[in-house]
Amino acid sequence: MFGLTNNEISSIAKTSGLNHDEFVEKDQASPRLIDTAEAIHPALARTLNNGPRLRLKVSAEGNCYFLGTKGCVLPRRARPIFCRMFPVFITPQGELALMVSETCLAQEGAESPEEVLSRLGQTEKSLRTLHARMLRMSAAHRT
Ligand code: SF4
Repeated sequence: MFGLTNNEISSIAKTSGLNHDEFVEKDQASPRLIDTAEAIHPALARTLNNGPRLRLKVSAEGNCYFLGTKGCVLPRRARPIFCRMFPVFITPQGELALMVSETCLAQEGAESPEEVLSRLGQTEKSLRTLHARMLRMSAAHRT
């Protein structure tokens, strides 16, 4: 899980009515995660600040704090940008890139990132809008 920005935390708190400390914990991102984030996009790595990470709490089983029996309990507009973009991202060169996951049903048998986006009801335009927001949020992020 990558880091949350201050903006995302405020949005989740406002929508859920929860205090930050009920769903956020601070820990240290591993060097491997930082490298992975860098490889996807430096903006993602900035939310990890070379280590200190603000992340969503997880249960003992490793499930996200907001995962309910029917999926995410947060309305889509309040979810972290990473969750809303997954599994298609924009590279620093501006190209669409698929983050391959064996557990992601949306990419099973898909022939392109565009096909995955379409299956998720997204478009390249909506993804680029989210990406632009992620760039702004990560640039303004402070821990
Ligand atoms: S989509 Fe919802 S449940 Fe899944 S990781 Fe994001 S916030 Fe947690």
